[in-house]
Amino acid sequence: MTAATKWVYAFSEGDGRNKMLLGGKGANLCEMTRIGLPVPPGFVVTTEACLAYLAAGRLPDGLMDDVRAHLARIEAATGKRFGARSSPLLVSVRSGSAMSMPGMMDTILNLGLNPASLTGLIEATGNERFGWDAYRRLIQLFGKVALGVPDEAFDQAMATLKQEAGVRLDIELSAEHLHDLAQRYLEVVRAKSGHSFPEDPQRQLEVAIAAVFRSWNGKRAIDYRKQFKITPQMANGTAANVCTMVFGNLGSDSATGVGFTRNPGTGEPAVYGEYLVNAQGEDVVAGIRTPKPILAMVEEMPALHAQLMKLAATLEGHYREVQDFEFTIERGKLWALQTRNGKMNAPAMVRSSVDMVHEGLIDKRRALLRVAPAMFEQLMVPRLDPSFRGKPLATGLPASPGAAAGMIVFDADTAEARGKSGAKIILVREETKPEDIHGFFAAQGVLTSRGGRTSHAAVVARGMGKPCVSGAESIVVDVRNKVAHIGPALLKEGQIITIDGSTGAVYFGEVPTVEVEFSRDMATLLSWADEAARLGVRANADGPREARRAREWGAQGIGLCRTERMFNQMDRLHIVQEMILADTKQARVAALEKLRPIQKEDFKGIFKAMDGLPVTVRLLDPPMHEFLPTVAQLELEIAHLRHFRDAIASLEEMPETLKLLNPRLHHQYEGSLSKLLGGLSEFKESHLDDDLIAKKSEVLKKVRAMAEVNPMLGHRGVRLGITYPEIYEMQIRAILEAAAECIREGLNVAPEIMVPQVVTVEELKRIAVLVETIHAGVEAASGCKVPLKFGSMIEVVRACLRAARMAETAEFFSFGTNDLTQATFSFSREDAENKFLPLYYDAGLLRDNPFEVLDVKGVGELMKLAIANGRAKRPELKVGICGEHGGEPASIRFCHHAGLDYVSCSGPRVPIARLAAAHAKLLEAEYSTE
Ligand code: PEP
Ligand code: MG
Repeated sequence: MTAATKWVYAFSEGDGRNKMLLGGKGANLCEMTRIGLPVPPGFVVTTEACLAYLAAGRLPDGLMDDVRAHLARIEAATGKRFGARSSPLLVSVRSGSAMSMPGMMDTILNLGLNPASLTGLIEATGNERFGWDAYRRLIQLFGKVALGVPDEAFDQAMATLKQEAGVRLDIELSAEHLHDLAQRYLEVVRAKSGHSFPEDPQRQLEVAIAAVFRSWNGKRAIDYRKQFKITPQMANGTAANVCTMVFGNLGSDSATGVGFTRNPGTGEPAVYGEYLVNAQGEDVVAGIRTPKPILAMVEEMPALHAQLMKLAATLEGHYREVQDFEFTIERGKLWALQTRNGKMNAPAMVRSSVDMVHEGLIDKRRALLRVAPAMFEQLMVPRLDPSFRGKPLATGLPASPGAAAGMIVFDADTAEARGKSGAKIILVREETKPEDIHGFFAAQGVLTSRGGRTSHAAVVARGMGKPCVSGAESIVVDVRNKVAHIGPALLKEGQIITIDGSTGAVYFGEVPTVEVEFSRDMATLLSWADEAARLGVRANADGPREARRAREWGAQGIGLCRTERMFNQMDRLHIVQEMILADTKQARVAALEKLRPIQKEDFKGIFKAMDGLPVTVRLLDPPMHEFLPTVAQLELEIAHLRHFRDAIASLEEMPETLKLLNPRLHHQYEGSLSKLLGGLSEFKESHLDDDLIAKKSEVLKKVRAMAEVNPMLGHRGVRLGITYPEIYEMQIRAILEAAAECIREGLNVAPEIMVPQVVTVEELKRIAVLVETIHAGVEAASGCKVPLKFGSMIEVVRACLRAARMAETAEFFSFGTNDLTQATFSFSREDAENKFLPLYYDAGLLRDNPFEVLDVKGVGELMKLAIANGRAKRPELKVGICGEHGGEPASIRFCHHAGLDYVSCSGPRVPIARLAAAHAKLLEAEYSTE
């Protein structure tokens, strides 16, 4: 930085679009000032100053001179003087980076107070209680943020004073009490930090700016950036916003509140929020007092309510986005203190997108782009089973929708530890604070006994799409003893509860849940997505039910039907086992003939569900032993059977032994013993046990013979079709006969047969011959023309390299990126994710899990090569992807650019993929693989 660097911008001069330099909050304060909204005068110390401070360990030279010059401008504008006894000016210093990180960094209020200016403040306001309250808040915040004094030390002093004063609420403390409290706080600061609280206001300001800058590197800010993948390109350093204090706690004509221009839980187009009369902002956010809904202002402060509605409309009209704003009313004057884009849950985002287009506020492009595809996952949040009629233990506010069950945990650290070991958790707190953030990450849901719908717990949970019930006041949390009194019940840590964030109810035990339905607004938004997208979206579905559901969610066909999933159903598994264990081809064919009608019915069901749309069916893929019991299981069963046989043998000897031991007893039981033995000998003669032992031993022998060290690289996929062509013949016939029957019923079918694990074109050709022969036979027998496409999965590296040859035989490619990732990395897809991959992300060796987010630099390059060479041979070659990556937004974006025709993913991810496909097209120009 040069000496001429401008470190400080007045709200009236800063560029409202430059969030990187001014931070989101600072830029918006500048913007609100520019459009004439009532923002208290102030200035922004830039993020560049923050970075310079963090690099050098001290504020840049000249910065405080600039700050003083800007302070003088505020003094001129307000007629007040910073630190002066008469008309003292007080300021706040608030953090704010380019990306919103609510509550993750620090803020200090009421700077400029010392004994002299405090006297002036009391004179100016005529309110002694207010003055001392402001002073003690400054000492507390400054002590905590700038001097590192733990919160508990102040809480303790407050609790002791309240006890001595015999009051329960802060609000009941008198001016004298607060005066006393301020002295105690000053002592706490001295004792805990080893420094006196600074009385010089300039010094307070300097230390406060530095402390806010340091909070950029605080643990919770770092955790938050890591969790939400906020890179330095997105936000680098925090600004410090210095703003004239306005007070909502100057009496009954003052108030403070927060609002959304639309309901962030439902998207309903009405201002939504809460306020508290005679209070400061932190009282609302911390949930210390339960606020009133903004609607209550109509009665209580009608003129200000009207002004507030106008302010909200101006904000939304200007930003063309739902705003989350903070306001204060100081003695009847409304001030706007902050605005930012509102974090809403997925249903609210969808509804507001559709509404704002209909209102003419935004266009469809913007409506689509403002909804992150991953958010749609929230729309798949489970609800309580509607038939459930249980009585709640307690009820709080429905703060973030969705239902979740889990074990009660009372603190964030335990939640994190238990969450890591896989437990499902409900974090139960009196109220939450920003330092609880890691507990939110670990929990399925959050329950608090205090606070409103805009309390910290509610806002954070909603942002994360996790259910939250807040303000359940009948719950008494006893963190020390790890118990909570919920109504009449006493619940301990580890016990299971269910919370319903849509109704506010809390239930004992685990309540069953059901999946969500598609809303009309969702269908509308996704229809716009389909219009915008180039890439098609299909579903991976293995049966008629899934196919129907996928179609409801907008799938444009099936990209992968894994036929083995049909084999696994209970009514057919024994036939499949019979087929696998058959000693001769004839016996195998006999078993397959029993399977064929069953598979045919499944295919018919799928074709019906997908009438008019393509259905890609994959021939059998997994290694056969997956359908058989394991060696360990068989050995155990055989051992049990042998024990049983031995037990019977020893029973037969029982009468003789008993006679020797005790003739009287033998005589007594002789009759019933011989009856028992008679029954047993009948059983023995049936040889049921011997037969079963022999059968199981035979199976065991086969299972042992079929065992492979590396089955995922072994006898599977097309290799099965080559060794046992009768299996593929049966499947091909079932597909084509089902298609022919559907055609005869008047349906429009488009079957596509796909071969898995192809390595050489010769494999593909062999299967192609089978398909052609059976196809011709079915057409001849049914007398109808059956449309058919034949293609190959591309999931081994060699297939990518030999794509040109593959395309001679294949009419389409479908990338099986699960296996292709495994093959490219040589990472076992079964083990890598829970063995070493987490360490790889933590150590920065890999940015993402390659089984989740497509590795564009490795796997992606192979795909591009295969597509180019395949299409060079067959220009009309259709290309899709059916690995898990087909439902992941960043991977979908790559697929769009790589020229794929469609992605295919699990049904519930179809909406995500549709939106991601639209985003890929709309953001085409900004794409980079870096
Ligand atoms: C794949 O490998 O990507 C694929 C879709 O097949 P499966 O996951 O069934 O091996
Ligand atoms: Mg595969």
